[in-house]
Amino acid sequence: MSALHDRRALEETERQQLAPWAAFSADSRGRIFEEPEHAYRTVFQRDRDRIVHSRAFRRLEYKTQVFVRHEGDHMRNRLTHTLEAAQIARTIARAMRLNEELAEAVVLAHDLGHTPFGHAGERVLAELMKDHGDFDHNRQSLRIVDLLEEHSADFRGLNLSYETREGILKHGCHWEHPVPVPEATSQPNLEAQVADHSDEIAYTNHDLDDGLRSGLLVLEELSELPLWRDTREAVRERQPEGSARVLHLRTIAALIDRLVTDLLEASSARLSARAPADLAALRALPERAVGLGATLRGQLAETKRFLSERLYHHPRVLERSRQATPVIEGLFACFRSDPGLLPAHVQARTEIDGVERAIADYVAGMTDRFALQNHERLVAE
Ligand code: MG
Repeated sequence: MSALHDRRALEETERQQLAPWAAFSADSRGRIFEEPEHAYRTVFQRDRDRIVHSRAFRRLEYKTQVFVRHEGDHMRNRLTHTLEAAQIARTIARAMRLNEELAEAVVLAHDLGHTPFGHAGERVLAELMKDHGDFDHNRQSLRIVDLLEEHSADFRGLNLSYETREGILKHGCHWEHPVPVPEATSQPNLEAQVADHSDEIAYTNHDLDDGLRSGLLVLEELSELPLWRDTREAVRERQPEGSARVLHLRTIAALIDRLVTDLLEASSARLSARAPADLAALRALPERAVGLGATLRGQLAETKRFLSERLYHHPRVLERSRQATPVIEGLFACFRSDPGLLPAHVQARTEIDGVERAIADYVAGMTDRFALQNHERLVAE
């Protein structure tokens, strides 16, 4: 028996261990440009590795999640958010006997398309692109992996598998995309559904955490939320001696654990009841199989509303995001009036994609600090 576990052996292990409705790497619908299979890595492992090695992935470190960088070095940025979400997705996928590498790949790519300055930046770019085919961050993630990253002389983009692209696409394709897009089915694969919920669990928890650390949220107002209050009480009962700091840390950890556990149990009950024969049957189900049970679903929605009102629309957060408008509008107008200011590789894309789309791709890809530097250099005096 060989000491090595090669791709075929990994695929065989999946056949034995994964649930019948999982996405098996050996059954992948493949890549747009056919490539020979790897000796030791499955199709989804290669997708994950291509995403991690992409330039867009490294730029996530300098993109705003909620708090801009100078708010403190412990605040989440898009990279740490992505890693926390990926970790949650791996736990869920593994426990549900789904394809862990596929769920991980989808999460690692899910925020690649975000603009600088978070959602404020996206709103500005969407307005600027209104008459030029619109702008949306999910679509932009797909543009990055399909068209904008450089990986090979043979094709544009990273040439990811159908299933990973299906997960990145999220809500179907309502726009022009130069290469074929995954077809719209009733449901995406379960690994994509897991990725979606892991994102939600990750940001709700870390935004509560960062909100408290920054002082923008205070404990008293959080006790209005049953999800927070009950979890914190349970932690306090288990460890009555802990300091306030430890109580805070344990509450966040317990909250993630509670949500993940509930999601696992509710999702598995739904899958057992439906028992789809395979991935094709799963894609045809009328509703999503992955999700929380009714009680925590309501409590999580309430917590998200709270965060939206008290944190995402907090005057100090809005104040910071106000710089998005002059910087992004300024850069867009400047490149549009003189495309010669664009780097050569972006100028080359104006021929293929049109001037406005090439500028939107370039500006959307910028980190917060790169956008500010360019604005300083090209627009401000
Ligand atoms: Mg996210």
